[in-house]
Amino acid sequence: MTTRTKQLIAFFLLAIILIGFLVVIRQNNGNNAEESASEQIFAMDTVMDMTVYRTEGMIGDPQDVLDEMRERVYQMERELSVTIADSDVAKLNAASGEAVMVSEDAYDLIGKALEVAKDTDGAFDPTIYPIVKLWGFTTGEHRVPSGDEIRNELKRVGYSRINVGDKPGKVSLSEGTNIDLGACAKGYLSDALCEIIKRHKTSGIISLGGNVQSVGTKPDGTNFRVGIVDPENTDKIYETIENKNNAVVTSGNYERFFEKDGKRYHHIMDSATGKPADNGLASVTVVGPSGFICDAYATAFFVMGEDKAKEVLKNKPDYHAAFIYEDGHDSGFDGR
Ligand code: AMP
Ligand code: MG
Repeated sequence: MTTRTKQLIAFFLLAIILIGFLVVIRQNNGNNAEESASEQIFAMDTVMDMTVYRTEGMIGDPQDVLDEMRERVYQMERELSVTIADSDVAKLNAASGEAVMVSEDAYDLIGKALEVAKDTDGAFDPTIYPIVKLWGFTTGEHRVPSGDEIRNELKRVGYSRINVGDKPGKVSLSEGTNIDLGACAKGYLSDALCEIIKRHKTSGIISLGGNVQSVGTKPDGTNFRVGIVDPENTDKIYETIENKNNAVVTSGNYERFFEKDGKRYHHIMDSATGKPADNGLASVTVVGPSGFICDAYATAFFVMGEDKAKEVLKNKPDYHAAFIYEDGHDSGFDGR
């Protein structure tokens, strides 16, 4: 046999093996598509996992639902991301006090964010952005700023500096004010994604970083289960809770932080001090029907601490929170 013939035989053998692989992969995908469709994407600086199940009587196909959800993710990212130059948020931050016509999502979300800022006495405050920047969390060039620098930047902070016009679409920020919706945008997005799943009369679960939200049950009728990260060892699950038609959102001091002289500085800022919130908490998990509320509350409660958070929850019977402390103890996960 000539070398040329040997090469040809080797080539055909390889081609047959490759085609075999492709057929197997295709069949597997086909089988999965019968039961569910899943996808992982990266958007809003976060790994996002979405699964839609096939249920009896659903409208359309799990893959169609997933396609619609993916489009919604990218649309909201374009509108709400503070780092995308022509997003609504970036336009507002560059407007030097002028009113800006923003998208329906941005208008709705900024209005809702303002409500939570008022309800939490500014513990949740989207105008904290200059402080987040000062500590280097927007660039990764972390540093501990001086007291003077903090005082100076705090002059630009305060939710009353956001003006949501009566006319739908119009928003303005006072001169020098910058906003960042990073503490509530993922929750708002997960509400919108769950609406898509509901509209198609089926079930599914989405996980956007620390935000999990589900619709309905698993195909076998059992409830979804959501693991809460152990703040001490983020590869481990601290507690698992059952979840049906609720969002489960965690804010933790392990998500973004740096260490200097043995001290940890994390990314959730107290607008009263201009420093990382410091009340012994390692994470706060909020469970309830709205992903937006859970997300905004988890951030706010991290700043407020357990006692004040429980005051807020008294008027919100559908929402529960669990607090894990740096010293390892917790408030319990029984939903009280
Ligand atoms: P989360 O992970 O939802 O708690 O959001 C934290 C992110 O929101 C931070 O990385 C900041 O960009 C921003 N942020 C920090 N502190 C606050 C605060 N007190 N209120 C609103 N947003 C904040
Ligand atoms: Mg949040």
